[in-house]
Amino acid sequence: MSEELRVSPIETRGLAGKRRFAMVVDTRRCIGCMACQVACKAEYDTPLGVNRTWVPYKVAGKYPNVKKHFLPRLCNHCDDPPCVRNCPVEATFKVEDGGFVLQRYERCIGCRSCMAACPYNARFMLPSHRTYTPITNVVDKCTFCFHRVTQNLVPACVQTCIGRARVFGDINDPNSEVSYLVANNPTQVLRPEEGTKPHVFYIGADRNHTEFGRDAYRKIEVMELERAAFKNHFKI
Ligand code: SF4
Ligand code: SF4
Repeated sequence: MSEELRVSPIETRGLAGKRRFAMVVDTRRCIGCMACQVACKAEYDTPLGVNRTWVPYKVAGKYPNVKKHFLPRLCNHCDDPPCVRNCPVEATFKVEDGGFVLQRYERCIGCRSCMAACPYNARFMLPSHRTYTPITNVVDKCTFCFHRVTQNLVPACVQTCIGRARVFGDINDPNSEVSYLVANNPTQVLRPEEGTKPHVFYIGADRNHTEFGRDAYRKIEVMELERAAFKNHFKI
């Protein structure tokens, strides 16, 4: 791994004296079972076609020497998040204690500026037709399971990860597992050149074998099509 892909230990710790939650994803332990993605879907009832967390993969090599590289993805809860800077109505904001980047649905005007600003495709638009909740036509994303973490639980994806590839905790606590992992392993963040100071740290991620950038973006029409297909299939 090249030196510039290592995480700066100085720039990426949130506010001094405050908690700063982070996730470490050890890609060497990820088996691509997608349990994290399913647990997240169950936790939030995320509509068809969009995900708060997802696990893209790439196949590398030639038969018979092939390998799948998985790269679990989610909002990076950046220290310097362009989604917050670009929201015209402060619907997207940062929580100082913990470093969560959260969304106020009642303020969001659905302009999608945050979606355009996020270099990680971490945001998506909620569809206009939802039968079980009035939360529609606003942007959504991973919250680091704010409601669970503030009850001293770990995020749903972390709790369900059978390979223990996802580890969560306060990186400002020197006794936390995330602190230990970041201190004792070469780690990477996605797209460090963007200067967003992400707080999802990867161990063993190979930039040449994993998906970066905006290519996972899925338009709302796709979501609506999938929803229609789902309704047709189940005749609801
Ligand atoms: S990953 Fe994207 S949505 Fe999440 S805080 Fe960073 S810029 Fe915002
Ligand atoms: S879509 Fe909502 S959260 Fe995103 S920039 Fe517009 S108002 Fe802010």
